[in-house]
Amino acid sequence: MSQDAWKQQLAAAIRRVEDLPSDLLVSLGGAQALQRVADEYPMMIPRRYLERIDPSNPHDPIARMVLPDPRELEVDPVCQVDPLGEDGYEVVAGLIHHYRDRVLLLVTTRCASYCRFCTRKRLAGRGWGQLTERQLDVVVSYLEQHGEIREVILSGGDPLVLSDQVLDHILGRIQSVPSVRMVRVGTRMPAVLPARITDGLAGLLARHRPLFVVTHFDHPRELGAEARRALELLVAAGLAVVNQTVLLAGVNDDVGVLAELFCGLQELMVRPYYLHQCDLTQGTGHFRVPLRQGIELMGQLRQRVGGLCVPQYVVDLPGGRGKVPVALQHVASMGLSGSVLLDPEGRPVPYPL
Ligand SMILES: *Cc1c(COP(=O)(O)O)cnc(C)c1O
Ligand code: SF4
Repeated sequence: MSQDAWKQQLAAAIRRVEDLPSDLLVSLGGAQALQRVADEYPMMIPRRYLERIDPSNPHDPIARMVLPDPRELEVDPVCQVDPLGEDGYEVVAGLIHHYRDRVLLLVTTRCASYCRFCTRKRLAGRGWGQLTERQLDVVVSYLEQHGEIREVILSGGDPLVLSDQVLDHILGRIQSVPSVRMVRVGTRMPAVLPARITDGLAGLLARHRPLFVVTHFDHPRELGAEARRALELLVAAGLAVVNQTVLLAGVNDDVGVLAELFCGLQELMVRPYYLHQCDLTQGTGHFRVPLRQGIELMGQLRQRVGGLCVPQYVVDLPGGRGKVPVALQHVASMGLSGSVLLDPEGRPVPYPL
């Protein structure tokens, strides 16, 4: 495939509700209601990703992730526009410094596809666009003045909407800071626009090692032939690849679906890293899975598949209180003479100090 095919695919992605296939529109109840949603929260769907939708299934999981839903406009009192309080940790434009040794750098607010459940719905597709050279200067001097920052996580938006040349430049500037030892690039491209993963890009990222690529797959049906090829390319280039998934009602809130997704990733040598509880973002309430159900799903998953297929289930606490793991508790009690642990079936096992 040509190194630039992704640019054409990105330009040809569907952005207007009226351009959706008519069979799909009919099953969604017409264009008008959906366009009102898309006016508020932009829609964008690459055509090849759209082909993964089964239009005869009104509950298609892929459709649910990318097609506007009138429920996005309902105001949910437990949800917030900026649920993680990120704006309060934005130390200079685009840079979120919440944890001592690592920062998020939002390099763009654009993506190849807008996930309806996005935590940064306030920005995705409607924010400021792309970090300017002037803003990058300010970011780099912040990094230089904060030697405690050893890891920079490129995020957005999707950093891989930027051209190879721009990415190379940004990575080079960040890595010119001696205290920055590690870079992560978060991207949903391998799932939604796998043509973006070219030999050229994989080589470019590999030249900036140590670098982790953090992909975002939510459903096993996203692991088609092209997505597999994209992941294989990254791994073959010598990059470490890990994946994050968001737990989504009606998409992957099922142990069989999660097992198929995580084992499929593991077979491609992509390590499932986090399963995120869906954040309390305004406009995404219909995606939330109760915490108790999420914990039970993780317990079932651990029984069914090997540990390398099991990500850590995390909740990013509202109001910027931080990311914490949640799990079934296997410590029944802890005393001065020993503890009582629980086996996988929940039966107590005494354990010495
Ligand atoms: C999640 C997150 C990170 C990365 O956390 P890890 O647990 O190291 O993956 C860094 N900064 C912010 C603001 C985050 O939300
Ligand atoms: S790709 Fe990431 S940043 Fe973009 S809409 Fe989806 S979840 Fe949000």
